[in-house]
Amino acid sequence: MLSFDPEKVLLPAGHYIGGQHLKTAGARFAVKRPSDGKVYAELTEAQIEDVDRAVTTAHQALKTSGWRTCAPRERGKIMRRWADLIENDPLLAQLESLGSTRPISDVMQHEIPFTAEAIRFYAECADKYSGDLFPTQESSLGMLIAEPYGVIGAITPWNFPLSMASWKCGPALAAGNAVVLKPSELTPFSTVRMAELAVQAGLPAGVLNIVQGSGAVTGNALVTHPLVRKVSFTGSTLTGARIMGDIAQHGMKPVTLELGGKSPQLVFDDAGDIDVLAQRILRGFTANGGQACVAGTRLIVQRGIAQPLLERLVALCQQPRPGVTWQESSRYAPLIDARQGNKVASVIADAKAQGAEVLVGGERFADTAEGWFWQPTLLCGVTHDNPAVQQEIFGPVLTVQQFDDEEEGLALAAHETYGLCAGVHTLSLPRALRAVRALESGTVWVNRYGRSGDFIIPTGGFLGSGIGKDLGRQAFQACQRQKSVLIDF
Ligand code: ADP
Repeated sequence: MLSFDPEKVLLPAGHYIGGQHLKTAGARFAVKRPSDGKVYAELTEAQIEDVDRAVTTAHQALKTSGWRTCAPRERGKIMRRWADLIENDPLLAQLESLGSTRPISDVMQHEIPFTAEAIRFYAECADKYSGDLFPTQESSLGMLIAEPYGVIGAITPWNFPLSMASWKCGPALAAGNAVVLKPSELTPFSTVRMAELAVQAGLPAGVLNIVQGSGAVTGNALVTHPLVRKVSFTGSTLTGARIMGDIAQHGMKPVTLELGGKSPQLVFDDAGDIDVLAQRILRGFTANGGQACVAGTRLIVQRGIAQPLLERLVALCQQPRPGVTWQESSRYAPLIDARQGNKVASVIADAKAQGAEVLVGGERFADTAEGWFWQPTLLCGVTHDNPAVQQEIFGPVLTVQQFDDEEEGLALAAHETYGLCAGVHTLSLPRALRAVRALESGTVWVNRYGRSGDFIIPTGGFLGSGIGKDLGRQAFQACQRQKSVLIDF
């Protein structure tokens, strides 16, 4: 039985620094359950001095704990134990489900195993990638040494709290860094539990620390702290740009930025089985209530297949039912909060004012108390400059545009602001390859949409969708800096 009583979940204290739960004196903020909007906890926000304490603790732990200097395989061993604990901790799963938009069945099926596997993937990377040796004259040795940065500052969003934390902590820790992580203030608890489990698994106290609070105060203090040598961020494009600016005012440090998207689903007449296609497109824009940066929210469909595909999609859009995340039977995610709900409503209103027609959905589900469950929504009759086509909505809203020939389809798929992902649906290999080459997008999926726990393939956006990659060995190597050494003897 996966269902649980939301009132009986034991909440860990807020900040976790040096292996200790820490009470601080900062401003208090309320934490709400997305399913019903109820305030279930209050936390204090980490101030500049609290963040300084976390970063200094992490810096010190690297000096004294041996995490940086041990044989990399030893780090891998501890991380594998950590992954086992993550997979077998009911409290972790409940905290994730209670505080985020993820139904418990989804957390158990996806979030927990994907989090554990990402940690295992990086445990394996720990001793696999070295530097380089260069051909020099015999009396010299030229090499490139890969070293950890030191303390890495990580900031994660609310949509996939645990897996985002694993994408940041996995490579950083495996490479011998320490981490200070700030989860979203909307979903603070599961990450603390994850850090407790790391210490249980043998991670030296202080190597992974969690600070809670807003972006403006806690996040800003973290990214600009002089001992934070690299920043890894996942969140909105606006905030990513802001962080770059804030860092630049204080000095220079590398950033990995995973930002927003407005990804196209480009469907050609020869895309194959229409039922399979409709299911794939639906998942692409409704998974996690559309609250995923990779969501495929722009359907660009060739005219010959548009009508039957839209009919199937309308039928599928009418199936999801709202249900609180702690019920085993719930499958459909709520929006994170009222602010997000109002944003979805306002973009749809603007879209309609500029000519969009609601084919299905368009409203909040009734009878869901203070929870914001939004109906899967199809918007037709939109031109490229419609706000619903231009803006990342972070709700289950799909715009529909039709095209006649390949060139027109590819032109519609391009986006001025974002270049995160694209789906191309065609059974013609040459056409698929032409599209792959033409699309200015960090990931292109052909005849599928979305990842499936394939940690080996990196992910990251072009244009306003970000800088650098998460996942894959690329993310591990991005947590190392390269030192060139030339020795004469
Ligand atoms: P969203 O609007 O989806 O919540 P944000 O990009 O604002 O996305 O937030 C993602 C993460 O970035 C959160 O943990 C948030 O607290 C943090 N954040 C927001 N603003 C800043 C900032 N100025 N500096 C550092 N972190 C920030």
